[in-house]
Amino acid sequence: MKAIMYHYVREQSKDYPYFRFLHVDDFKKQLNFFEKEFGFVSKENFIESFTTGIPVNGVILTFDDGLKDHYQFVFSELQKRNLWGIFYVSTGNYQSKQLLGVHATHLLLGKYGGKKIWEALLEIITDDMLIDKKVSSFRNNTYITQSNDEYTTEVKKILNYYISYEAREKVLAILKEKLLEAEEKIVKDFYLSLDEIKEMQDSGMIIGSHSVDHSVMSKLSFQQQQYQIETSFEFLEKITKGLVYKTFCYPYGGFHSFTNETESILTNNKCLFSFNVEPRDISADDLINRKQALPRYDCNMFESGQVADIAGE
Ligand SMILES: [Zn+2]
Repeated sequence: MKAIMYHYVREQSKDYPYFRFLHVDDFKKQLNFFEKEFGFVSKENFIESFTTGIPVNGVILTFDDGLKDHYQFVFSELQKRNLWGIFYVSTGNYQSKQLLGVHATHLLLGKYGGKKIWEALLEIITDDMLIDKKVSSFRNNTYITQSNDEYTTEVKKILNYYISYEAREKVLAILKEKLLEAEEKIVKDFYLSLDEIKEMQDSGMIIGSHSVDHSVMSKLSFQQQQYQIETSFEFLEKITKGLVYKTFCYPYGGFHSFTNETESILTNNKCLFSFNVEPRDISADDLINRKQALPRYDCNMFESGQVADIAGE
């Protein structure tokens, strides 16, 4: 039993020439490949496997971040093929009407490329925004003049590790104001609408929680983690008029992104299963003993699952 993780599935856009995404044509090719190679696990068999403890051969599709792509390109394709998927939605953006930090970064990089954003960051960031011990790595790396890809990596390092959480919010707000069009409009086009989420559940898709604001759970206190998990589930319960299954997926993923505490909060909240990112099949042991950390492959590990070429590379 193989779970596959997808994020952006879309077509090329003139406005975002550097955006990294899986082209919808490649997505369709990959579905053909999975059909031929492994087949798909039915939703009923997948859910039943938690009771039997026996994995079923085949593929399970999962989609992270509650993106409009998932309604526009994925949902229709799955329906055509009589398939189902699990869609993990972060809920904070519906209340704030703002982009989550992780997505603002993707859009800025997608529109301008790594080099431009890196240069903009150097102008904005002051030493007091940096986490003390990271100041030297930040200053030492100011000479890189390589590919856009390397700048992109550096931009992500700066925003995710070098600066404090508060500074990150502030810096992103400045960049968004300066470089992106009206945020409300972007937000509307970027995320699934509440009606779309409801329609997808009503058509047999599973809707799960991806936290409130896409925080790294392992960096949060017990109470903060509880807030992220409980508030997001409450919101989804409300807008779907009751979730059919309770499932969670860790923002960013990997064993560094959550702790035993996170898993126990999920279990206490009667979450049936949660997805991590770890490239291997789901085993009987996972189904019986580690339901809150099921392994999942990135789609790029299989035929046709690589991101499209980036402009200027
Ligand atoms: Zn995510």
